[in-house]
Amino acid sequence: MFAGAGELSSTEMELYPRQKVINSHPHSPLILKPAQKPYHCGGCKEYEIDLRQCYQCEHKDVHQKCDFHLHVECDPSSQSIWLQFINCTFTFQQEAPRGKKMVCDGCGKDVRGWFYQYLSRGNPRYLHPCCAKLPFKRTDKGGMVLDLKEKTSSVCLICGNEGNSKDFRSWVYVSRCGNYCYHVACVKGKVERWNKEEASNQQQSSGAGTSSGALVRRAPNQEIKTRRGEKALEYLEMAVDIFNFVVLLIFGISIPVPFGLVIKWLKRK
Ligand SMILES: [Zn+2]
Ligand SMILES: [Zn+2]
Ligand SMILES: [Zn+2]
Ligand SMILES: [Zn+2]
Repeated sequence: MFAGAGELSSTEMELYPRQKVINSHPHSPLILKPAQKPYHCGGCKEYEIDLRQCYQCEHKDVHQKCDFHLHVECDPSSQSIWLQFINCTFTFQQEAPRGKKMVCDGCGKDVRGWFYQYLSRGNPRYLHPCCAKLPFKRTDKGGMVLDLKEKTSSVCLICGNEGNSKDFRSWVYVSRCGNYCYHVACVKGKVERWNKEEASNQQQSSGAGTSSGALVRRAPNQEIKTRRGEKALEYLEMAVDIFNFVVLLIFGISIPVPFGLVIKWLKRK
C-alpha cells in the first residue's frame, strides 16, 4: 500500500491565513475550516469531494445561509507555489473571455470558473487552480515512483490511449517502469461520477442502505491457479493499488472504491 499524500495537510494548513476577504464575493470574511460536505468551489466551479480545509462564507440572513466555498488554491491573492515545475508563467484569471472554450491541461475538463492562464500564440494553456497543485512526484514505501507528466508513450490503463494523444488533453501519472499509467482525467472522471451516484443512491435508500465502505473486499481468486494467472493477478493488484494512490494524489483523500469496480474500469488487463 502507498502512503504519503496525507502528510501534506499539516504543513499546508500553516500556509493559509485563517480568514480571507475576496473582493468579488459580497460577504466577508471567509473562514478557513474543514468542509462539512462535498461542494462546488465558488472560484473554479469544480466539484470537490475532499473535505479538507477551505474558505467558507458564514453569512446568514433570515432566508438562508450563504453556501460559498472556496478552495485554498483558488484564492486569487495567493502565490502559485504549485506551478514551479512547469516552465512557463501562469497568471491567475477571474474573468473568462465570453464564449471561449477552454480546457484544463491537467484534467482535460472544461474551465468554467477561475483559472490559471499562459498565453502563447500557438499553444495557450489553462489550468484549474486545483489541478495546478497536483503532487508532482511521490514514492511509496516499496520504492515505486510515480511521475506526473504532460506526455508519455505509456498507455492509460483506463482509456487505452497514449498519454496526451492528439485530441485528448490531460496529464498522466506514470510509474517509472512505464507499466502503470493513468490519465488524471480518466481517474478524476470515473471517481467523481461514481461518487455522485453513490451519494444519490444513499439518499434514496437513506438509513437502510449498505454503505460502500463495507463492500471494499477483494474478490476471491481460487480459480487462478496457473503461474500466468498468478502473475496476472499480481499485476492487477498492483494496478489497483496504484489507482488508489493516484486517487489520493488527485483528491487529497483516500476514497474506498470497491476493488472489483476498479478492475472493471481497467481496459488493459
Ligand atoms: Zn476551486
Ligand atoms: Zn457569502
Ligand atoms: Zn483541471
Ligand atoms: Zn486515460
